[in-house]
Amino acid sequence: MKNALVTGGSGGIGKAVCLQLARSSFHVLIHYNSNKKSADEVLSLIESEGGKGETIRFDVSSKKAIESALGKWKNDNNDNHISVLVNNAGISKDNLMIWMEEGEWNSVINTNLNGFFHVTKSLLKDMIINKWGRIINIVSLSGLKGLPGQTNYSAAKAGIIGASKALAQEVGKKKITVNAIAPGYIKTEMIKNLDEKQLKTLIPVNRFGNTEEVAHLVDFLAGDNSSYITGEVININGGLYT
Ligand code: NDP
Repeated sequence: MKNALVTGGSGGIGKAVCLQLARSSFHVLIHYNSNKKSADEVLSLIESEGGKGETIRFDVSSKKAIESALGKWKNDNNDNHISVLVNNAGISKDNLMIWMEEGEWNSVINTNLNGFFHVTKSLLKDMIINKWGRIINIVSLSGLKGLPGQTNYSAAKAGIIGASKALAQEVGKKKITVNAIAPGYIKTEMIKNLDEKQLKTLIPVNRFGNTEEVAHLVDFLAGDNSSYITGEVININGGLYT
């Protein structure tokens, strides 16, 4: 059984990804930071369907916390390693740049971009040694198009896109693929305050997306059938931006 770590497994998209990967026979590490209850619920759901998993906690904005939690997991699982990483944990703190506080900039960069760096770096060596891996980074439409009020978030997501393309070229020979998925509006806590009725008129398929739709794409990229796709950014936005 391959191990898949899904950061932000306690959140909307992460939960659907954990469930889908478990259905595809991965042992899923359901990561959370503050919402243990939700991570435990995801684990119960996986187990009720006959799947396997465990929960793991760390703050992705802290290099020390990441290294400590993943180091402990490695010690406890000596002859095992994580071969699929879904970098999904993320936050937004929207503000026009003219009003943006340095703290709003730094926390979004630290959580999204630096989190991607430290978590990926912690697991990359094992993937290289074992000559197989999948790194799937959840970015955003915002990182491709740029969205007003999101200079911090757009910068973080665009940074991950650049890093994904570069890393894909570094590790392709080791049968490790690195791809980014760029969702548009997906119904989760993160966008609960947006006006769906108004915004959906801008979306060609005329609705927000579901977390399960993102999860199926992650599941495909995590498997063997996607082995010739790497360094890509795949949009999943109902045609909002291409
Ligand atoms: P949610 O708010 O539902 O989930 C966010 C997840 O990130 C939670 O599991 C949360 O963990 C985790 N997280 C936040 N901060 C930290 C931290 N410092 N350390 C560790 N984990 C953290 O959001 P979504 O499911 O909507 O978002 C998932 C990803 O998809 C994000 O990267 C987001 O940017 C991206 N995305 C979402 C879109 C949407 O429309 N929903 C559109 C485009 C991209 P916990 O709650 O346990 O603290």
